[in-house]
Amino acid sequence: MTHDTPHSTPSESANTPESADVTLYAKHQKIHPRRVFGLFSTLKILSVIILLGIYYITPWLLWNGQQAVLLDLPTRKFHILGLTFWPQDLIYLAFLLIIAGISLFFFTTLAGRLWCGFACPQTVWTDIFLWMERWVEGDRPKRIKLDKSPTSLRKIRIKATKHLLWITFALFTGFTFIGYFSPIRELATDLVHFNLSGWQTFWLLFYSLATYGNAGWLREQVCIYMCPYARFQSAMFDKDTLIIAYDPNRGEPRGPRKKTDDYKQKGLGDCVQCTLCIQVCPTGIDIRDGLQYQCISCSACIDVCNEVMDKMGYPRGLVRYTTENILTGKTATHVFRPRVFVYGGILLSLFIGTGYAIANRPLLELDVIRDRNSLFRENEAGLIENVYTLKVINIDKIAHEYQISAKGIEGLQIKTHRHIQAQPGEVQEIPVRLLIHPEQLKQPSSKVYFTLTALDNPSLHTTEEARFLGPFNR
Ligand code: SF4
Ligand code: SF4
Repeated sequence: MTHDTPHSTPSESANTPESADVTLYAKHQKIHPRRVFGLFSTLKILSVIILLGIYYITPWLLWNGQQAVLLDLPTRKFHILGLTFWPQDLIYLAFLLIIAGISLFFFTTLAGRLWCGFACPQTVWTDIFLWMERWVEGDRPKRIKLDKSPTSLRKIRIKATKHLLWITFALFTGFTFIGYFSPIRELATDLVHFNLSGWQTFWLLFYSLATYGNAGWLREQVCIYMCPYARFQSAMFDKDTLIIAYDPNRGEPRGPRKKTDDYKQKGLGDCVQCTLCIQVCPTGIDIRDGLQYQCISCSACIDVCNEVMDKMGYPRGLVRYTTENILTGKTATHVFRPRVFVYGGILLSLFIGTGYAIANRPLLELDVIRDRNSLFRENEAGLIENVYTLKVINIDKIAHEYQISAKGIEGLQIKTHRHIQAQPGEVQEIPVRLLIHPEQLKQPSSKVYFTLTALDNPSLHTTEEARFLGPFNR
């Protein structure tokens, strides 16, 4: 894999003996990707529409009359498609992150940077911003001409229109983001009445600014200079990984020619040196230089080169999905290899395991918190007393009435003044006292077990361990 930057000025100047000043700073040159048509660009449009559709529509969906996805931070309840998750359920989030990590390994091993080209939020939002830019300013030649033209009223009007569109879209994106954390219908009403809270305003502006900056201004620089995945993905590549590559055996020697020329007679390969593959590239690289970490596998160069091949009457696929081994003639297609099956197997097991765990997660949670003010006390009747607060969480979709019991020491008595009834998703804090005659307390610290049982469904129960403390001279 080569590691040239699109504008490798520093290394070039460093290698020039007569150059006196060596600069480590390469001025950013704006990239104006040309519009491209073809199979992969259609797939990409579909991918952008589906992914952005999911992002913008999801917070508006209802599930049993409630917002289907709502990460309610103040109440620490995360509602996802009828399921309610609590901070105690963070283990599932950990599993989801592991699944995301293994998925990245699996798909990178199988098909290179498929994620970058078609599903990464940076790519998806950059595409939308590029479409808006193209709509307002025109395709590549017009945009280059406009950028080079001196400042004029026309130029200011066109640029202002583009930025207004970008900012409006970025604000809508920021608003939708907040809608995942605050009920979006109330949020919309508050927004219309300029009644958003300080935090809501801050996050709306922050996320909007991040979208505007990343997708409008930084674009490919995020992929090239900021994304860690671009740097470590080569560790997951091998010579059988599916990559987008130019076939030098077919293409070289490259050179211009007329369609009617017998180019083979002239000793030329299939590449007509039209440079369209560079002009459509969103990171501004030349795929003919070999596999580069700046390539985000967007497939634009495949589509445009196929178009050129069609026009010239040559077979398609001078730039195509292939593997290094196929290109060098070492092996035939060998995409499905052991590591793909290993990653796939792990991924499938994690999916099934996490799905099973979520489907069968306990519908009742109990936390026992000891009173921190006193270890124990002796009451008027001479009994040793420990005080606890039981935190009961009803995760079920229906209300339940519960009975609490305690065991672990012979003769243990439980006292609570509260009737425990919890609505779906409700958290109750119940003060509970455990009492025992000092004669029955054999040691200063003993294990006790609280059990909570639903009265209408005894199979719904949970037990939690705690400590009962007494005098130390026993
Ligand atoms: S688009 Fe195809 S033919 Fe044109 S320069 Fe690129 S590789 Fe060569
Ligand atoms: S080299 Fe081709 S696939 Fe890679 S980023 Fe550029 S256009 Fe996309």
